[in-house]
Amino acid sequence: RQRKGPVVASNKPSPSESALRSLDKQYWLQLGNDWPPARIAMLCEPMYGALLNNTIDTDACAKSLEARGARDFVKDALYDGIPDLSEGRRDVDVNSDFTPDPTIDLQGATHGSATSGATAGSDVTKRISPNILCYTFPRGEVTRLPEPSLNPPKGILDYHIMDPAALLPVLALGVQYGDRVLDLCAAPGNKTLALLQTGCCSNLVVNDSLMSRLNRLRHFLRSFLPHVSGDLVDFVNSDGRSWPGHESSTFDKVLVDVPCSADRHSILQDEDNIFINQRSGERRELPALQLSLLMSALQCCRVGGSVVYTTSSLSKQQNTQVVSEAVYRSAASLSIDARPDDLSYMRRAFGRHFCFHPTVAVGQMVVPYLPLNFGPVYFCKMTRHA
Ligand code: SAM
Repeated sequence: RQRKGPVVASNKPSPSESALRSLDKQYWLQLGNDWPPARIAMLCEPMYGALLNNTIDTDACAKSLEARGARDFVKDALYDGIPDLSEGRRDVDVNSDFTPDPTIDLQGATHGSATSGATAGSDVTKRISPNILCYTFPRGEVTRLPEPSLNPPKGILDYHIMDPAALLPVLALGVQYGDRVLDLCAAPGNKTLALLQTGCCSNLVVNDSLMSRLNRLRHFLRSFLPHVSGDLVDFVNSDGRSWPGHESSTFDKVLVDVPCSADRHSILQDEDNIFINQRSGERRELPALQLSLLMSALQCCRVGGSVVYTTSSLSKQQNTQVVSEAVYRSAASLSIDARPDDLSYMRRAFGRHFCFHPTVAVGQMVVPYLPLNFGPVYFCKMTRHA
């Protein structure tokens, strides 16, 4: 067949290319020289962790992961503690030094100081959610984890492969035995699974606004916890912005993992990408949606309880600005006194395993960095005082 005209190559950028251009513009301004190393890391193969299913015997699985060189980063940070040096580096130069200095030998520099690390660990142990076991490979090692295997007698998966930085918000939530917990934006369920691994929740309400995603989450949880009882977990399909209409001030802990620009996903994958032209309105509205969800979470939480807000974005507009605005507006219009907690203990405990940004106004932010290629994850814990 004859062509009707010249073939013109499309100059239209793909969604992931549009995402990278947009993040370049935004993060050069926000992060300056800290952006290029984070950008390179995000464009490379990420490192993963294995969240162990502790409802079955974990010994064999732990041993086989250890034989491959992986270690439980939570145990490593808290009990085999080697103090983090990033606090000290921060004191030296607050503005230019978030990237761990590769010339500093963290392991070697701290020989003989394990006691002080362990002391810091015991303090942190009381504040974080317990019983979470997650194996990661050492700094700089991009080894692939073997696929999880089905536990022979029961047909249950022995671990879940995920970004271990995504566990930090769950650890920071500090779930305690008997807590009633709400996971407001739960699908696909990585953090829901971690919340259940704590073994602490007396009742976990798992909400998502999309029924299809909630159904997949249910299925996902069943492959780890087939006998999880209806009393323990309630699945709810509702808009999280209107949750206080259901139940106000009743939860001990609330996790709000909001929809966001999902930076790493957006610059790598075209599918389900929020940077496509047709979703520009949705993208612009993200901070407003995030604010409503966080204010709703604060209303659901009882006085004395805590909320953790989290995203997988480095954007100030979606992170610290949402937190500040929610705290201000909740006080002004709802008489809720919610104050961000000082999470520097998370940095001190896990600063050797993740690259934390040193100058975040409220909360903590894990920035991707090639030798520790996890995140991005932002998280902020707020306690409700009134
Ligand atoms: N917590 C999940 C995990 O760890 O696997 C990831 C949550 S994902 C970032 C955000 C989720 O929020 C999506 O599943 C989305 O369907 C849901 N969502 C979006 N808008 C919502 C709303 N208004 N209320 C409740 N959930 C919402």
